[in-house]
Amino acid sequence: MCGSAHVFLSHFHWDHIQGIPFFLPLYDNPDNYFFFHSSSRTRGLQRVIEEQMVDPYFPVDMSEMAAHCNFYDIEEERVAFDDCIVQSMWLNHPQGCLGFRMETANGILVYATDNEPGHPVFDRNLRRLAEGADVLIYDAQYLPEEYAAKRRGWGHSHWREAINVVMESGAKELVLYHHDPDSDDERLDNIQKSASEYYHKVRVAREGDVIIL
Ligand SMILES: [Zn+2]
Ligand SMILES: [Zn+2]
Repeated sequence: MCGSAHVFLSHFHWDHIQGIPFFLPLYDNPDNYFFFHSSSRTRGLQRVIEEQMVDPYFPVDMSEMAAHCNFYDIEEERVAFDDCIVQSMWLNHPQGCLGFRMETANGILVYATDNEPGHPVFDRNLRRLAEGADVLIYDAQYLPEEYAAKRRGWGHSHWREAINVVMESGAKELVLYHHDPDSDDERLDNIQKSASEYYHKVRVAREGDVIIL
């Protein structure tokens, strides 16, 4: 099966790029087209993806990828694609991170993670992105009490702030995302339960989730 896809990278921390060298559709079909988008403010997008595959980090380099890969630099802007408008804005995260608002005829999806609350400019950016969205995917890595006690300045958020954002922005459905690596299923179930006492349409993201607007 062949096809094309746009891939938006919010930033280049490992947890957001390390899956790319293992993504089979990049290798197995010359009729696949991928369009990668991110800011090259700190380092070029193509360079970042190429460099994580150089000797001795990975056994093959990007020339082994049969698919067509194209790279596009985006900053804080509003760009029209075939059937979608993408608005990007900076969030509050070490070394920077873009949040994306995807507007289609069928609905609006916002992907806004990684982000730490408490900075007036970025707090405003986030709410502008999320305004009236059908689905908001937001950073809820820590528990509120964990964040307050020992995770300030780490660039992430918690479910209680996610509730604030969804209510203040008028977004409809909230998906809690960017789970802490130490979170187990029980902790995530508890986060969903706690959050649902404040807002009815909330769930934690699960591996394999597909969102169709
Ligand atoms: Zn990060
Ligand atoms: Zn991250």
